[in-house]
Amino acid sequence: MYDFVIAGGGPAGSHFAHKSAELGNKIIILEGGEIGTPLSCSGHVSLDLWRYIPHKNKSRLIQNEIYGARFHVRGEGRKTHTFYKKEPISNVIDRVELDRCLSKMAIESGAEIKERHTVIGVEELEEKVIVKVRSPEGKQEIDTKVVVGCDGPNSRVRRSLGLEEPKELLHGILGFDFTEDFGNFVDVYLNVPGFFSWRIPRGAAGVEYGIAGSPDTDIIGRFEKLTDSMGTHIQKRCSGMIPIGPPASVSTNRGFLIGDAASQTKPFTGGGIIYGLMASNCAAKVVNSNEINTIKMYESRWRKEIGREIEMGKWIRKGYSLPRVVQEMGLKFFSGEIGVHMDRPTSLFSRGQFNAMKGNKK
Ligand SMILES: Cc1cc2nc3c(=O)[nH]c(=O)nc-3n(C[C@H](O)[C@H](O)[C@H](O)COP(=O)(O)OP(=O)(O)OC[C@H]3O[C@@H](n4cnc5c(N)ncnc54)[C@H](O)[C@@H]3O)c2cc1C
Repeated sequence: MYDFVIAGGGPAGSHFAHKSAELGNKIIILEGGEIGTPLSCSGHVSLDLWRYIPHKNKSRLIQNEIYGARFHVRGEGRKTHTFYKKEPISNVIDRVELDRCLSKMAIESGAEIKERHTVIGVEELEEKVIVKVRSPEGKQEIDTKVVVGCDGPNSRVRRSLGLEEPKELLHGILGFDFTEDFGNFVDVYLNVPGFFSWRIPRGAAGVEYGIAGSPDTDIIGRFEKLTDSMGTHIQKRCSGMIPIGPPASVSTNRGFLIGDAASQTKPFTGGGIIYGLMASNCAAKVVNSNEINTIKMYESRWRKEIGREIEMGKWIRKGYSLPRVVQEMGLKFFSGEIGVHMDRPTSLFSRGQFNAMKGNKK
């Protein structure tokens, strides 16, 4: 019997598999499609990503370096507020390659991966979990001591285990213009109710235009308006959902969720790669498939690690709904050099940020 059957071979599933297989656990990842595809992510991440990926892969993954962001309250060309650091803050990476790289690490640690194997249901019993799977070969059932739902925002495992659905699901759309752009700033447009649209220079891979917001706010229409207004030629388009949490619980007796399935995202950007990797680390460290009460330790560990950041992120997001004049004042106050870490909004109150702001006022 498997120690862990993991549904989903995205960053959360592969990283948990890698860390847990290293400890000697018998693991299989069931991936409904093919690792890394279809793409529905900008792959804009803090430099913390490189704690999880061997250095030799960096040059293959990295597309561009970002030093800061320009915020536009009233549209392109009007007054902007710039936030920056003197060294790179983040990287734009090839997200498909990231998933492939993490899954290769899982295999090298001893995990099995089966692509085109979709989890269609989970039956949790006292002594084991039966995972129901559909693949091109037909239907099958796999027994495991513990099931791990890393199957993204519309998690089937979450639904089968009766766990809480995300409080909110945003609709995100991305469009790519393949004209190269090695600029070092992302642009953020506060022109979507409760969220924003953006432009990311992706180096030789071109420019990405994106938007996210509530599905009731005509996101597709707004995306078309955005790209038309910029006179850009979109050559490729994709979309996905962004879950906003956190839920009250992400675990049962013999099952738990990681990553987007657990709504472990930043409420003020929708980014979830790093939080998913952090939570995978917590889970691999504390959950022992032979002592199922350790699953409760994962519940408390991941919240200790990122719970406060998610709460703070929710407060920052409230700023997107303030009147424009208040947004302008807030952005003006904080703009210039910054000392914050993009995954840790609580660093807004850090000494680094205080010193940066002091420097700006000189
Ligand atoms: C438009 C958009 C832009 C984004 N930009 C960024 C960004 O710049 N930076 C950032 O950090 N985050 C970004 N995100 C969020 C980021 O993509 C997610 O937080 C991250 O992918 C979550 O990883 P995961 O492993 O939890 O889930 P996923 O990456 O969604 O992986 C889940 C995997 O499970 C598989 N699966 C689903 N159902 C089943 C099933 N029933 N059985 C088997 N397999 C299944 C899927 O095929 C998929 O491979 C963005 C999201 C969107 C929608």
